[in-house]
Amino acid sequence: MDSLRAYLDRFVADTLDRCTRCGKCYEACPMTAYAPALTGASPAAVVEGLLPLLQGTQGSAEAVSWIGVCTQSSRCTEACPEGINAMLMVRVARMGALGSLGAEAQMKPTDDPLFFRKIEAFAATQLSPDEIDQWHRANPGERTAS
Ligand code: SF4
Repeated sequence: MDSLRAYLDRFVADTLDRCTRCGKCYEACPMTAYAPALTGASPAAVVEGLLPLLQGTQGSAEAVSWIGVCTQSSRCTEACPEGINAMLMVRVARMGALGSLGAEAQMKPTDDPLFFRKIEAFAATQLSPDEIDQWHRANPGERTAS
């Protein structure tokens, strides 16, 4: 069986080879609106700034912001015309941004004051208003201030 590292190396090489930097994965992401730093960002440029993180080098600040709001909706993977697992691409880039692939860390694993807001925002993309209401009633302590 493959080691995790060998699997990641193959995934990264394939992604870098096949990714056209079209930005459709970024465009499909339901979470970008929740990162103020991404307002007006070019989808292609954000992806271009993310790919170096896969190789253990520094990514752009916009790419790190995108990683920071990812809730693994997988809309990016569904949108990719090249059949790349874009969600995994963002997850591996997150490893890079955390300093796990060789580059200096560009984000902290627990530095996420918007955690519950992101959960709530993601839920809003997946659940009906009634289901969201039920979720809030079942988890009263997790409602975020708006
Ligand atoms: S949609 Fe696919 S090909 Fe286009 S930038 Fe994203 S990963 Fe690359």
